[in-house]
Amino acid sequence: MQELIKRQRYFFNTNRTKGISFRLAQLKKLEIVLRQNEHLLCEAIYKDFKKSSFETKATEFELIYQEIKLALKKLKYWTSRKRVTTNLINFPAQSYVVPQPLGVCLVIGAWNYPYQLSLSPVVSAIAAGNTIILKPSELPSETSKAMKKLISENFDETFFAVVEGGIPETTELLQQKFDKIFFTGSTSVGKIVYKAAAENLTPVTLELGGKCPAFVTAAANIKMTAKRLIWGKFLNAGQTCIAPDYVLVHHSVENPFLEACKTEIEKANYAFENDNYAQIINDKNFQRLIRLIDADKVYYGGSYDATKRYIQPTILQKVSFEDVCMQDEIFGPILPVISYQDLSEAVRQVQQLPNPLSCYIFSEKVSERQKIVREVTFGCGAINDVVMHITNPYLPFGGVGNSGMGNYHGEAGFKAFSYEKSILRKPNWLELPLKYSPLSKKKLGWIRRIFNYF
Ligand code: NAD
Repeated sequence: MQELIKRQRYFFNTNRTKGISFRLAQLKKLEIVLRQNEHLLCEAIYKDFKKSSFETKATEFELIYQEIKLALKKLKYWTSRKRVTTNLINFPAQSYVVPQPLGVCLVIGAWNYPYQLSLSPVVSAIAAGNTIILKPSELPSETSKAMKKLISENFDETFFAVVEGGIPETTELLQQKFDKIFFTGSTSVGKIVYKAAAENLTPVTLELGGKCPAFVTAAANIKMTAKRLIWGKFLNAGQTCIAPDYVLVHHSVENPFLEACKTEIEKANYAFENDNYAQIINDKNFQRLIRLIDADKVYYGGSYDATKRYIQPTILQKVSFEDVCMQDEIFGPILPVISYQDLSEAVRQVQQLPNPLSCYIFSEKVSERQKIVREVTFGCGAINDVVMHITNPYLPFGGVGNSGMGNYHGEAGFKAFSYEKSILRKPNWLELPLKYSPLSKKKLGWIRRIFNYF
C-alpha cells in the first residue's frame, strides 16, 4: 500500500491529472467502461444480495452517469479562477481564487449501494484532478471483485486503483498519509476514520448514517404520502441510508395512513421470489433486524425466513421512543410508526436524538413545513417525498454532526476534492510608501483610514 501511494504521489506531481483534457478523458473512459460492463456488474450485485438489475441501473448507474455528464459539462467553469474584490490597501491589484486538486485521495465505500457510493465520489475526485485509491466495502464480495477487475484492467493504478479488503486492510490504509479521505459508512467507523485522518491532518468528508424521521401531519395528502414513503422505505429492502427510518404521524390521520401504507405494500408485492426486493446483506444484519420486530406491535408483516435472508416489509404501530427499534438506525425493512398529538412535542423528541442525515415532511401546510425545516437539524431532505433529493446533482448531499461532515454530488463533490488557492496579483507601476520606514504616526493614521475602506 505504501508503495502504491508513493507511486500515485509521484504521478500526481507530474501534474498530468491537473490538465483539463486528462480529467475529461478519464471521466469519459469511466463512463464507457461502466456502460460496456453494466451487465457483469449487475450480475455481481445480484449474486451478493439479490439486488435486481432494474434497481441497480436506476439507483446506482444512472446516478453515476449523471455525475459524469454534469462534470463533463461544467468542468471548465468549476476549474476556472474566480475574481474576488481587492480591498483598498492593496490597490492596485487583482485578487482571485483558483480551485486546486488535493493530491492522493482515499475513497472508502459502504455496501448498500456499492457502485454509486464508491464511484460517485471517484467522479468528483477525477473532476477535481486527483489520483484515487478506492476501497469498496468487502460485504458484497462479488461486487467488490468486479469493480477491482474492471478498474485495474482499464486504469493505470498510479492514477486510479482499487484496494479490496475489510477491517485489517482499511486499518492499514488509514495509517498512510493521504491528502483527502472520503468515507461513507456508519457513524462508529466514521469516528475511527476521523481519528486516523487527524494524525496526518488529512481533510475528510464523512457520509454517515442515522435515524431519518418522516413527519406525516394532519395536513398531509395521505394517499400520495403512503405511496412515496413505502417506495422509499422498502427500496433495497430498507437498506438505504436516507430511507425514512421511522414515521411520526398525527393521531388524527394515523389509521388512514396505516391502511394506505398496507395497500401500497400489497400493490408493490415485495415477495422473496420477486426481483423488486433485495435480500438482507448478511446473517449478522438479518439477526440484528429480526430482534427489532416486537410481535405485539406488528401492524403489517413481521414474518421472515433466515435461509433466504428475507424479512417481509413490516410496519410497527404504537411505537414509543423507548422501544428497542428506536435506539439505533434500523437499516432494514421495518417501519416503526409513532403517533403524536402536538407537532412541537414531536419536533422536540426528534431534537433529543442525534442529527439525522435526512428528514421528510409530508404536509400541505407551509407553516408546518417551515417549522420542521427550521427546528430540526438535518443534512438534507424532502418535502412531500423521500429519497429523491439524492437524485438532484445540484443539491449538495451530506449529513451534519453524527450523520456526517461535508457534502458532495455535482459541484459540491468537485469542491469536496479541491481546495481554493487564493492569489493576490500586483503590478509594479505603483507602490505606496506607507508600510516602509521611516514609520510615523501619520503613516499609521493613513493605514488605519485605508483599512476602513475594504
Ligand atoms: P461500515 O461503517 O461498517 O463500513 C463502511 C466501510 O468501512 C467499509 O468499506 C468497511 O470495510 C470499512 N470498515 C468497517 N469497519 C471498519 C473499522 N473498524 N476500521 C476501518 N474500516 C472499517 O458501514 P456499512 O455497513 O458498509 O454501511 C452502513 C452504514 O453506512 C449505515 O450507517 C448507513 O446509514 C451508512 N451509509 C451512509 C451513506 C451516506 O451517504 N451518508 C450511504 C450509505 C450508507
